Amino acid sequence: MQYFDTHAHIGLICDDPIEQLIVIQEARQAGVSRLVSICNSLHDFSRIYENLKSAGNVYHAVGVSPSEVQNPGKNWAQLIEQSVQLPRVVAIGEIGLDYYRKFGDKNSQIELFITQLDLATKLNLPVIIHNREAGHNVLDILRDRLPPKGGVFHCYSENAEYARKALDLNLYFSFAGNLTYRNARNLHETVEVLPLDRILIESESPFMVPADYRGKRNMPKYLPNTASVLGAMLEMDQEALAAILWENSNKFFGLPLE
Ligand SMILES: [Zn+2]
Repeated sequence: MQYFDTHAHIGLICDDPIEQLIVIQEARQAGVSRLVSICNSLHDFSRIYENLKSAGNVYHAVGVSPSEVQNPGKNWAQLIEQSVQLPRVVAIGEIGLDYYRKFGDKNSQIELFITQLDLATKLNLPVIIHNREAGHNVLDILRDRLPPKGGVFHCYSENAEYARKALDLNLYFSFAGNLTYRNARNLHETVEVLPLDRILIESESPFMVPADYRGKRNMPKYLPNTASVLGAMLEMDQEALAAILWENSNKFFGLPLE
């Protein structure tokens, strides 16, 4: 069995290049044989990319997250365009809206989101979407601006009704460790309504550690735990589920299965 961690903030787990490669290696030993590294800030992208250059099973997303709306850096759009030319850069992300924390005003977040959706269309890449308490605006914007290569709601946190609406846009839904929390009824109900070919999983490490590891710093190596909880919910054979998740993830990022 092998798993694809579609969302890991390697640069936030640790800063040291050697330690980062150990995180990747430990993940691989646990069956997480591919992962997408998400830069927390565009300012960190080049450094993390360089650190992980030797890891051929690590892919990269590049983008300006809503947390950086007030400080995306000079020529940020140009920097994204240059970065996607590098090997194994497979998505624009994470991008989106966050009304929970106070990152600048809503209008500047919306403008940054739309600009990057259009950039993803131009660069022919899928998008990784961050949505926190902004579901209504996110969906409205995606209805007009979703790039042809599609998008994934990373760390899905809305409910089943919202998922039904998002399914009309053919979006993917990625579940993190919070799926394993007993009180996450909204997520458990969402899983029930989703077609299997729309589901991805992610660690969102170092955040969202699965319930079984509560108190620990989350790592990509814990991802199989989220997969087994998902398998139990779906009453599915673990190997069959792993194969489907593997196929979905690679298809979404435009990667070969082997
Ligand atoms: Zn994230």
